Amino acid sequence: MARRSAESVRELAPAPRSRFELPRSHRGVLAEAERALAMEHARALLEAPTAPYAEDGPIAVVRAFAREHPELECTEDRHANVILRWPGTRHTKGPTLAYSAHLDHPGFLYAQKRRGAHEATFHGGVPGRYLPGARVRFFDCATRTARATACVETVRKLGDDYVCTLADVAGALGPGTFGMWDLTPGVVRGTRLHARVCDDLMGAAAILSTLAWCVRTRQSTPVVGIFTRAEETGFVGCLGLLRERGLLDGLAVVGLECSPRRATAKVGHGPVVRVGDKQSVFVPWITERLHAAAIDLHYVHNPFVFQRALMDGGSCESTAYNAFGVEAGALCLALGNYHNCGPKDRIAPEFVDWNDHEGLIALMLSVVREWNAPLESKMLPRLNRNWSGEYNRLAASARRIRAGVVSRRTRKRSP
Ligand SMILES: [Zn+2]
Repeated sequence: MARRSAESVRELAPAPRSRFELPRSHRGVLAEAERALAMEHARALLEAPTAPYAEDGPIAVVRAFAREHPELECTEDRHANVILRWPGTRHTKGPTLAYSAHLDHPGFLYAQKRRGAHEATFHGGVPGRYLPGARVRFFDCATRTARATACVETVRKLGDDYVCTLADVAGALGPGTFGMWDLTPGVVRGTRLHARVCDDLMGAAAILSTLAWCVRTRQSTPVVGIFTRAEETGFVGCLGLLRERGLLDGLAVVGLECSPRRATAKVGHGPVVRVGDKQSVFVPWITERLHAAAIDLHYVHNPFVFQRALMDGGSCESTAYNAFGVEAGALCLALGNYHNCGPKDRIAPEFVDWNDHEGLIALMLSVVREWNAPLESKMLPRLNRNWSGEYNRLAASARRIRAGVVSRRTRKRSP
């Protein structure tokens, strides 16, 4: 019998199973072919392991998508943020619509072996009490294949990060690996998608679906897709992009996110026109355009529903874009188990409603179609409808109310 090395004494347990199947029940806001493509894009991204500073997997998916769609211009900045551009078939005036999403998710970077124990640092917003006892799967940065599994034993805070010692190690854990919670890449149950990462690979998937549609239908409007890195550690990838500026000239950004659900933005109640986040409110004219597109889509396609809310459970890159003078608004999906924080302080899959995701894509297409339509033509007719519908009541009651004022004045003036 061959001798095994000390590092591979125990073999890796198989990864948790996934099931990427379209739910049977849906709102019919996307054609069947579009739905199938949406699932393909989501699956490709969700199966790619990721962590802050280890976005190699989802970036490979975005690059492969760019190769399959040579009509898109692909640019990468020196921080490895990726920008895809559909040039459109007509020259248009005004800012170009850009959708932006981040490719990382809170996770581990392998650090070292100290006093006989493996250590990894954890990056991203998860309270420390969730970490001890949670299972982690480590992947090779270069090949993205699973290399080891382990369990978090102890946790200590170091600056903004946690340093964790690992126990119950199986496989070959070592330098050049990064870790994610050992949870399913994705399982559809009912209409919900449960996954180790929804935030924000689902946002990135929505952009791929939108760009593929732009290419296929040869949209006249130019559309840009921005895929950023290291959002979970303070928008760092996005800040790199903003500091270079040149690549963002002439863009108006719509940040896409999976954001913690609120009382006013529930999972399964449609995509969210996000008016702001924990730190700021977003640019009114972009928010109004997103809202107008959502209302129009609801008028032509009644089953489409949406929500409008301040999603103050987290901050998003739109705050960073606006702070640097690149105008931004936002759309998002309401998210359950934000950053894998499940009930009873246990790590669990995040979840979104798949039909909200289809609604988000339908809304993004609607925004593309209407991007260059004059905005006043949407808001003013709506207000004018209110005016003409209610005018008679307003006028009659005004006559009554003002008659009282006039007669009092008249009395006062008369001697
Ligand atoms: Zn996010």
